[in-house]
Amino acid sequence: MKLPTLKEISALPPDGRSLTVKGWVRTKRETKAAVFLEVNDGSRLGNLQCVFDEAAAAAAASELARAGTGASVAVEGSLVASPAAGQSVELRASSLRVIGEASPESYPLQKKAHSMEFLREIAHLRPRTNTFGAVARVRNRMAFAIHEFFQARGFQYVHTPLITASDCEGAGAMFQVTTLDLERLGKSGRSPDYGKDFFGKPAFLTVSGQLNVETYCEALGRVYTFGPTFRAENSNTSRHLSEFWMIEPEVAFAELADNMELAEDFLKHLVKTALADCAEDLGFFDQRVEKGLVESLEKVLARKFAHMTYTEAVAELEKAPAPFEVKPYWGLDLQSEHEKYLCEKIAGGPLFLTDYPKEIKSFYMKRNADGKTVRAMDLLVPRFGEIVGGSEREDRLEVLRELMAEKKMDESSYGWYLDLRRFGTTPHAGFGLGFERLVMYVTGMANIRDVIPFPRAPKLADF
Ligand code: ATP
Ligand code: MN
Repeated sequence: MKLPTLKEISALPPDGRSLTVKGWVRTKRETKAAVFLEVNDGSRLGNLQCVFDEAAAAAAASELARAGTGASVAVEGSLVASPAAGQSVELRASSLRVIGEASPESYPLQKKAHSMEFLREIAHLRPRTNTFGAVARVRNRMAFAIHEFFQARGFQYVHTPLITASDCEGAGAMFQVTTLDLERLGKSGRSPDYGKDFFGKPAFLTVSGQLNVETYCEALGRVYTFGPTFRAENSNTSRHLSEFWMIEPEVAFAELADNMELAEDFLKHLVKTALADCAEDLGFFDQRVEKGLVESLEKVLARKFAHMTYTEAVAELEKAPAPFEVKPYWGLDLQSEHEKYLCEKIAGGPLFLTDYPKEIKSFYMKRNADGKTVRAMDLLVPRFGEIVGGSEREDRLEVLRELMAEKKMDESSYGWYLDLRRFGTTPHAGFGLGFERLVMYVTGMANIRDVIPFPRAPKLADF
């Protein structure tokens, strides 16, 4: 492509070369001697300052009048050194063409700072703000870094289905997929005949690709999925979405300790990549969103993550001086307030919790010799708690069947899953990293609805 991006331009020397740039006007400032147009094309956070001196401003007067905030423009000029702080080059503009106007009376994004709530209502325009542009670039870089990490380590990327007919995967409420005429069915008062439904049985959107990807793990060794997942849980929190993306590696012949090592290396690789390749955007988040973000991410790289068993964690929580909203006890599914306390006050950084009570974890997690706990691990981080959930999987056929019976699961729908234990079973382990939680973690953004382009949550499916 001939048109250079602002990112490319920022790396050029100020050698007076002629350039055309295209982008959207962020601000226009007029002084006696010159008109300054700040233009951004989304390729980076920083704008390109386009300076029209008196003569150029006079020649472009009618176009300048139309070039308000939000307008798309083409500016021609020469690239020169900038005397202004924070930018090496600027454009000495010679001509201006407005491509699309944005009426200042109705364009919602004016110069002042807008609240996140307001910006959520204009999710189609919010990528034009500094914050959402930066989130989008970091999200993009992280998605690519995920593939880089696994591909460099010999993992195969496996595509697991989004529609599933497993009746319960144990990870939360599911959205049903049907082509039955619900309205007619409702009027008839009859119960649905799933034999006549599209798949000939009830079907749902997946809550996790794990069970499917285990089949490829037990053939290819090291695998991962990275795709959308759906949960119909009615939790209106700043950490939950109804549609989110998840990365799920699964490794054959791996045990819980290997799994934790992989999760730690993985998170550190992502943090390191963000610090190295998204420095400008992270600097913005550090200044405007979460003070001290960059330093705290650098600290994460510098040390080993802490480890603690669930049982030890509950003992710490019971000793805590300030009361929690939900009183901790052994057997409780820890809440975000507990998770935050443990990593912020006890570990001072990311913390692995292991060996959870079997009652609060999924059926496929490997049972410990104590008969009460399973080889699960959650990685907790300051600010919001769980970012990774994983486990060593139960690889013994008989124990797995017992666990399924305890959870009152219908074994007949899981024959294929049990076959993995019947034929050449191996220890294996894996985890799920919530992609949006990762983006919250590296950007410091406080609400998960602001790190995905179009959030889906209870009563929220606009755009
Ligand atoms: P939580 O306890 O925070 O609700 P979970 O234990 O239900 O999470 P898992 O089933 O272990 O989550 O899913 C693996 C990972 O997926 C979590 O560690 C988290 O990062 C992410 N995740 C889970 N549920 C959601 C959600 N509703 N929205 C966004 N991310 C999620
Ligand atoms: Mn979990």
